Amino acid sequence: MKTAELNIESVRKDFPILRQLMNGRPLVYLDNGATAQKPLQVLKAIEKFYKEQNANIHRGVHLLSQEATVAYEKARETVQKHINAAHPHEIIFTSGTTESVNLVAHTFAKKFLEKGDEILITEMEHHSNILPWQVACEEKGAVLKVAPVNDKGELIISEYEKLLTPKTKIVAIAHVSNTLGTINPVQEMIQAAHEKGIPVLIDGAQAIPHMKVDVRWLDADFYCFSGHKVFGPTGIGVLYGKEEWLNKLPNYKVGGGTIRTVTFKETEYGGLPIRFEAGTPNIDGVIGMAAALDYINGISMDAIHAYEHELLVYATERISGIKGVRIIGTAAEKAGVLSFVVEGMHPLDIGMLLDAQGVAVRTGHHCTQPLMERFKINGTVRASLAFYNTKEEIDVFAVALIKALQRL
Ligand code: PMP
Repeated sequence: MKTAELNIESVRKDFPILRQLMNGRPLVYLDNGATAQKPLQVLKAIEKFYKEQNANIHRGVHLLSQEATVAYEKARETVQKHINAAHPHEIIFTSGTTESVNLVAHTFAKKFLEKGDEILITEMEHHSNILPWQVACEEKGAVLKVAPVNDKGELIISEYEKLLTPKTKIVAIAHVSNTLGTINPVQEMIQAAHEKGIPVLIDGAQAIPHMKVDVRWLDADFYCFSGHKVFGPTGIGVLYGKEEWLNKLPNYKVGGGTIRTVTFKETEYGGLPIRFEAGTPNIDGVIGMAAALDYINGISMDAIHAYEHELLVYATERISGIKGVRIIGTAAEKAGVLSFVVEGMHPLDIGMLLDAQGVAVRTGHHCTQPLMERFKINGTVRASLAFYNTKEEIDVFAVALIKALQRL
């Protein structure tokens, strides 16, 4: 296998958790779509923060607080550069993708949504990019429209375009499907929406770990992702918003840190980004996430993308060749995810039999129940890859799967 610039042996040394035994077998971690492992560089950045820099940020006159503030704001610039945002203040730190979508859905609906308006999503969305819009529609009497997918798990773009109507107020789309692995042509989809003056939010939770994302090239109005899926800590995430859009949104959570002046009569709020970051933020999470982005950039996103593509092609060949296996999600453009079902076997049973052999996969509906309904299945077994996975691990996975299927 061509590994481009990616030195797998050296990369794996950075992830001590991968050296563990699970159920007496070497761990084969193929649940990266749920959460990715963290390299030592991230753990060290968090340790350094608590050993040398810990203080509350923004309002301290003392040196330690100023140093913590510098580290926090430097991390914002790291995120800005990573996704090529125009300004650091277009990066809002949230607790994760779910909160980022909630922030936009709630504030956008409050200001712009009226009875009879439409919000357009797709059939392959994660519940986190469905429910906030469903609530917004319920509250405002608006209608949730859904663009369908074909049998391969690709969006039917002609149907999507038909659903962009004068009533559509906002579009929300996954960049990469967590269940199917489909990479959506979001740049073209954004362009189509913009031609009709409709803003677009992209759920990038499953794209950011696998590919270079340029929010300005995409022309995304909002882009959301989670730190923990991109080799950083849990409880931290990003909402990117174009300055003009973030400035149009009303307040979300308010409290300490969001203001200029407060009296009991009225409050003057601060500008971006602090207006959306109420309370003491997840400072170590922000620093850890920035360290994770520095780490993957050190490897290069292009090398990661190329390597994972080869790994996915290899895994697809190996797994689809096993008798009884049906791959769910066979789009032409895919990233990092291999979902499948086996006739006559429940995904959960397969997951447990794989676990007994040290192979960690996820089973179930993957928070995409409407998509399960579309494919008329109750769930899938999902192997999701990261750049530290190897061809040898795929071989172990394939052999374990054959054994699992024989045992029942
Ligand atoms: N969207 C997608 C596509 C996801 O895969 C996930 C996580 N599985 C989420 C949103 C929600 O992410 P989080 O739980 O980190 O908020």
